[in-house]
Amino acid sequence: MANPLARAQYLLAAHNPRQLPPDDGFEVAFAGRSNAGKSSALNALCQQNALARVSKTPGRTQQLVFFDLPSHTGRYLVDLPGYGYAKVPRELQAHWQAFLDRYFQARQALRGLVVVMDIRHPLKDYDRHMLDYAAKRGIPAHVLLTKADKLSKGNAGSTLLAVRRDLAATYGDTVGVQTFSGESKLGVDEARKVICGWLDMPAP
Ligand code: GDP
Repeated sequence: MANPLARAQYLLAAHNPRQLPPDDGFEVAFAGRSNAGKSSALNALCQQNALARVSKTPGRTQQLVFFDLPSHTGRYLVDLPGYGYAKVPRELQAHWQAFLDRYFQARQALRGLVVVMDIRHPLKDYDRHMLDYAAKRGIPAHVLLTKADKLSKGNAGSTLLAVRRDLAATYGDTVGVQTFSGESKLGVDEARKVICGWLDMPAP
């Protein structure tokens, strides 16, 4: 079956709640510290070379970037910025924090959160903060330990086990985890299945 994420395309970037698309569909949000490999993961999942480049435009560091799936109305992938707090004025930080808090608390369409982590630097404060948002809201999360191609199979496997143990102790069975690589495409099918399930679409 064709990959239903393959036709994802840029829809809009929202800087405040009024700019969000109608809250009556299904969406999956993607978070990750900058440089974790989130854009490469989105591109690999959607079989595109530059889909997530739009999220990297200067000025987009405090916007939610929505991609829609034209053949599946009301289904969105949402790219959350990887922060950059240090570089923005305090009042903008407060605005952004409030927007993100509200998005996680109130957005009905939000069905799942993907957190992309560099497998060599997993579970940093930012990552736990994002997983806490999902846990508080009662939605599932899925961790992609990406750049797995940079480690030996053995090292990747032992990191996966350690992260799985940590997540289970903190979040029970609401957070999944897998190894991934935007480079070698390791784990792409597994991740697509999770995301398509949350979007209530047939998995490829
Ligand atoms: P983002 O800031 O989280 O969106 O990160 P990017 O996707 O732009 O990736 C940051 C850097 O890591 C880039 O130089 C990518 O080429 C590299 N990168 C991303 N994913 C992988 C991966 O799976 N394997 C390898 N070897 N490099 C990766």
